[in-house]
Amino acid sequence: MTDTCPICSDTPGHHWLWRDDRLRVIDARDADHPAFLRVIWHGHQREMTDLGEADRLHLMDVVWQVERCVREVAQPDKINLGSLGNMVPHLHWHVIARWQDDAHFPGSVWSARQRDGAPRPRVPAALWRATLLARLGLPTVGISPALADAYAASAYAADVPGGPATLRIGAAEPLLDQWLAEHGQTQWALISAANPWSSRCEQDANRAAHAALRALLVQRGLPVCEAVNWPEDRASGWTEPALLCAGLSPEEAVRIGAAFGQNAVLVGGGEGTAELLWCVRPVSIP
Ligand SMILES: [Zn+2]
Repeated sequence: MTDTCPICSDTPGHHWLWRDDRLRVIDARDADHPAFLRVIWHGHQREMTDLGEADRLHLMDVVWQVERCVREVAQPDKINLGSLGNMVPHLHWHVIARWQDDAHFPGSVWSARQRDGAPRPRVPAALWRATLLARLGLPTVGISPALADAYAASAYAADVPGGPATLRIGAAEPLLDQWLAEHGQTQWALISAANPWSSRCEQDANRAAHAALRALLVQRGLPVCEAVNWPEDRASGWTEPALLCAGLSPEEAVRIGAAFGQNAVLVGGGEGTAELLWCVRPVSIP
């Protein structure tokens, strides 16, 4: 891997939809093709037959599962699968939803335009991730001791009436219990939509993801409060927006956190202390 390779230097962001230790699935949509995913091998391999058998089967199995997800979500007229890889030294497969009235049909998406394609809405990243999770399970993410320590030391301020309430792992917060009781609820969850897999992203992208998470929770009729994550090192000036929500079970909170590309969510209730739950399969890395 090299720093100058555009694939190696592409860090996780809101366009990364799923990952494990060998490959990633990204949203590769463009203006003409709104349901276009790409499965990319992390390492430098140029040809399918350069992979060992187990790796080759794994890559193809993920491609088949991604194809199923694209069919399920986008209901296209046709799926195009393609592996060219002439520009970058990473094996990758394009999985593209096609419609008879799209801009290039029946040519490939790289052929000359035939028409102005029929407009189609983009698919929210959270919907792609939720669909991929159902088929592929939780993503695998490397967690360094420093990152694990940062999670353990983080504090969260939630904007409850009479607050802010302070949430810390292993600590109780009476203000929060009061807020739950006022809403007739017994469980809370704190979920962020920012910075997927703890990879720092642009503020505009984080704001859009936050709004999508808020809309999802409000649509379910759940009480929601704005919250913010304060890292232990406040001098860094870095904070992360989050939402405190009442009435979600821990399992639902993990599913929603995973749909927004989060490593973990904080949950609590019943006058107990706050607990960190992973939304990924964490793997220790140096
Ligand atoms: Zn590379």
